[in-house]
Amino acid sequence: MELVEESPYRFRIDRHDPMRVPGVVFATRSLLPDAGADRSLDQVANVATLPGIVDASYAMPDVHWGYGFPIGGVAATDLEHGGVVSPGGVGFDISCGVRLLAADLDRAELTPRLDALMDGLAEATPRGMGKGAVWHLTGRDELDGVLRGGSRYAVERGFGVERDLERCEDQGAVSDANPGQVSERAIERGARQVGSLGSGNHFLEVQAVAEVYDDAVAATFGLHPGQVCVMIHCGSRGLGHQICTDHLRGMEKVMARHGIDVPDRQLACAPVSSHEGRAYLGAMAAAANYARANRQLLTDAARKVFAREVGHRLDLVYDISHNLAKIETHEVDGVRRALCVHRKGATRALPPGHEDLPADLRDVGQPVLIPGSMGTGSYVLTGVPGSPAFASTCHGAGRVQSRKQAVKAEKGGDPRRELEAQDIAVRGASRRGLAEEMPAAYKDVSAVVESAEGAGLCRKVARLVPVGVVKG
Ligand code: 5GP
Ligand code: MN
Ligand code: MN
Repeated sequence: MELVEESPYRFRIDRHDPMRVPGVVFATRSLLPDAGADRSLDQVANVATLPGIVDASYAMPDVHWGYGFPIGGVAATDLEHGGVVSPGGVGFDISCGVRLLAADLDRAELTPRLDALMDGLAEATPRGMGKGAVWHLTGRDELDGVLRGGSRYAVERGFGVERDLERCEDQGAVSDANPGQVSERAIERGARQVGSLGSGNHFLEVQAVAEVYDDAVAATFGLHPGQVCVMIHCGSRGLGHQICTDHLRGMEKVMARHGIDVPDRQLACAPVSSHEGRAYLGAMAAAANYARANRQLLTDAARKVFAREVGHRLDLVYDISHNLAKIETHEVDGVRRALCVHRKGATRALPPGHEDLPADLRDVGQPVLIPGSMGTGSYVLTGVPGSPAFASTCHGAGRVQSRKQAVKAEKGGDPRRELEAQDIAVRGASRRGLAEEMPAAYKDVSAVVESAEGAGLCRKVARLVPVGVVKG
């Protein structure tokens, strides 16, 4: 794959047949994927062939290989020009995302209570493959509330406060959810998992604010140095996975009928306006609501433990997903157009002044939450005016080792001991699970964030360090 260096933070893949637009990779040279080990830049070029794609097929600095689209990929298609939606551009964990809660408590005050707090959080957070959940929903009717109402439904049922919803993307619920497009199998898988972390990369982490880069913005977000926070990363569990599987299959069958030819079967897609496109978007929105309710329920569980063990509150800073397709209006070549923006392993980053921001954040921009790893750190960023890539930025550090490679690299080591030696408390994960997620499995999150900032995608607000992690 030939890359043209446009700036130290931006590389271009020139358009060649059958690409409709160029590819653009936001990264420093040292962050670029190693072509021998990771074919994600080929995937950036493949995405550029999708019908209706505008501007460019984008990759964020945490880009790595994914199903069809790369993880860290952003692509927008024009609704009026046959633009398609592709389930692989959202990913299997629909609306997987991050929420950050800020405690009215400093790290030093927490230290004597940390063990008790971590034990409580570990007990209150259902996790692992299909092992229990905060809610046990018995049937379709009850689950319908979740699929249509998201966090809003959870708050209505007593699992949170109205203010939480102001600090959620889409006020906690995506409109246009269509539970009728969610299969029985997806319902079955989802009903037993509402309010659970899942496994592997998903976590609930106690963190502390280590550094603030912009005092005023941090204060508006409700953050200050030394403060204790809780970060929750989870998604739509088996429900989202099943929806993705079902609709990929459905689209594969009708692509030829829509006259669509893609270089990789994993890029199965259909026009947004087609029956299949609308069916997927309706089901995807239902899964997005499920994921948001999931994070709301885990928040409620964590708040109860915080109140009991340390007598402190947790206020929501923000909740944002990093696997979603959204219909948004953006200016392309000087014209405002309705686009289907796919962000897969990429985070929306609204600039100051954007109308979709809540009133108290409007002057500063959207909080962008970037988990790094359980051993290094995480970031809070904000959107900037005039950014490229449809107001998007990275979503994490991004993997460099497969799970298998990471386990091999940790062979003979003791991941729990290594983390505890750095004063990071660890709960509820197998040795193998921890080994898969050690910092070495990921890129350097600081380098990724600096690269995103250098590329003009976002701005740093604060850095958080891990204090204790409950792993899925
Ligand atoms: P993904 O959504 O792609 O599974 O994960 C997003 C990002 O979360 C990863 O790229 C990685 O940087 C980060 N991450 C994975 N595990 C942990 C963890 O235990 N703690 C923190 N803070 N970040 C993590
Ligand atoms: Mn996920
Ligand atoms: Mn995720």
